[in-house]
Amino acid sequence: MTSTDFRRKTNWWLAVTAALLIGGVLWLTSIWSQDYFLSQVRDRARHTLDLHIANLEGFLEKYQVLPGLFARNDQVVRFLLNPKDINELTRTNHYMEVINRLTGASDTYLMDKSGLTIAASNWNSERPFIGRNFSFRPYFQQAMAGKLGRYFALGTTSNKRGYYFAYPVQVGTDTLGVVVVKVSTAEIEEAWAKGSDAIIVTDTNGVIFLSSIPQWKFKTLQPLDPQTLERIKLSRQYGNSKLNPLPLGPQGSGGDDVERMRIRQEVAGKSPRTVNYLVQSALMPEAGWIVHILSPTAPVNTQVVAALVFAGGFLVFILLIGVYLLQRRRNLRDRMDLQRESQQALEEAYGELEQRVQERTRDLKLSNVRLQQEMQERQRAEQELIQAGKLAALGQMSAGISHELNQPLAAIRSYAENAHLLLDSERTGEARENLSLIATLTGRMAQIIGHLKTFAHKKSTDVMPVSLPVSLEETLRIFEERFKQQSIDVAVSGWDEDIFVYAEPVRLQQVFVNLIGNALDAMQGNGGKKIQIDARHTSDTSLLTFTDTGPGISTDLLTQVFDPFFTTKEVGKGLGLGLSISYSIIREFGGVLRAANGADGGAVFTIELQRAEATKRATG
Ligand code: ADP
Repeated sequence: MTSTDFRRKTNWWLAVTAALLIGGVLWLTSIWSQDYFLSQVRDRARHTLDLHIANLEGFLEKYQVLPGLFARNDQVVRFLLNPKDINELTRTNHYMEVINRLTGASDTYLMDKSGLTIAASNWNSERPFIGRNFSFRPYFQQAMAGKLGRYFALGTTSNKRGYYFAYPVQVGTDTLGVVVVKVSTAEIEEAWAKGSDAIIVTDTNGVIFLSSIPQWKFKTLQPLDPQTLERIKLSRQYGNSKLNPLPLGPQGSGGDDVERMRIRQEVAGKSPRTVNYLVQSALMPEAGWIVHILSPTAPVNTQVVAALVFAGGFLVFILLIGVYLLQRRRNLRDRMDLQRESQQALEEAYGELEQRVQERTRDLKLSNVRLQQEMQERQRAEQELIQAGKLAALGQMSAGISHELNQPLAAIRSYAENAHLLLDSERTGEARENLSLIATLTGRMAQIIGHLKTFAHKKSTDVMPVSLPVSLEETLRIFEERFKQQSIDVAVSGWDEDIFVYAEPVRLQQVFVNLIGNALDAMQGNGGKKIQIDARHTSDTSLLTFTDTGPGISTDLLTQVFDPFFTTKEVGKGLGLGLSISYSIIREFGGVLRAANGADGGAVFTIELQRAEATKRATG
């Protein structure tokens, strides 16, 4: 299963759980809130009911004592004793009228023992009670029996509902008549109508005779059987009222001791509606009434709906927070996964890199080792070459030196042997000649060795002003003999002036000797033999050129002639050191030595030297 599938499944389960949870909580909330709000309504209504009953009892108690009081009144007794006395009648009527007004009763009247009304507070009204017989009323009968008569009824004359209190007027044991106080209940009902609850009062038959809702008056809580109806009709308690049952809907219970009642109500101009009530009842034993309070349950429904909305809102809020937290946790987890993945990728890349670096390092190390080996081999080869070169040079040099010295040595030996023989034969003159030849030859050998010494001469860096003409003159003197032997023509120009250069006299001569000697060697063969030695001067430098008429130097060898041990001469003739030493000497003087070929083919060697002041002259 992919992580997306898993997440989808989890989401589905979460949604189902959340829906069940919300459903459950809402269901419980509806039950609890209904119970709670109903119990509140019930408690409040119960309290209201108790208050109403207390009011009602207070109201009735206030009036129930009145007929007893009036029955003891002298005027009343007097009139009953003289019912025909018109004055007594008038006084009694006035008395009734006054006390009725003062007590706030509806009617106060006096009946004789036959039940005929003989005086009344309403004597002066359109329909006075006087002359009417109410002996059929239970209150009259109760009073005639010596008790306080209490009765609720619709007035047969006034057609007004009222509560009747009746009390006998007695003189001794004789009952002369009955005083009746009728109290209107309209005000009570008016007060009840202001409350939100409906208040009804029923008699023992379940007939509603007091009601805060006018339409319910003289309706019954349950249908009455025909006998009861007939009995009530005969008593004329409720006049001609039909005593139909209340239009009830299906009933139910609203709690432990609480009944529910659904009553269809018809409001003028509106379609009838059924109202649900919580009903609580209480008995007023003295009056024989049952007082009911009917509380509409619609506000409870509204409150339950409000509670559900609140609970739903709260749940949705909690749910949203949950979803938010879940999402955040998921995001966090996703981010951590991503981080872990990138970390892993990074580590892998790093590992790969490290491996590559290691491989590369290994390769480099290997090639380094190879290089070092190669270098060592090269160095070894170089050493060997140098060694071989050195040996070759040494061999060449020894060959040269031995050749140079062997010739005069052989000549000396033969001259010595000759001298020996000549002395034996006493040819002293010739022997002397040979000895002087030997002396000449040893001089030449000394010269050769001196030349070698010059090579080994310790280099001096103490340059000084050296006279050019003097140096050249001394050099040319050394070669005088050879010039003659080789028939060399020596031409000089530019040497007249006594020019000084910075040099070292012996070594400058050594260079001159070398250049002239080479020129002579080069001009061994046939052809014109001329050495041209020119000097040209600027204010700072002197340029000396040695031009010969020899074969010159082949172009590819021009750069090699200054190399040590480079020579084209046969073994014993050249060491290949002359030019390289000359080159070093001139350079040490701060000058330059160059080799080239002249226009005519001979070699041209040029020496460039720094000019020096004549005052610093030293002997050359
Ligand atoms: P060496 O005289 O012992 O050979 P050098 O260093 O004096 O050694 O000369 C090196 C080489 O330069 C000579 O062997 C020769 O081939 C060449 N060389 C020098 N001077 C001349 C010249 N004047 N003409 C032609 N070749 C020359």
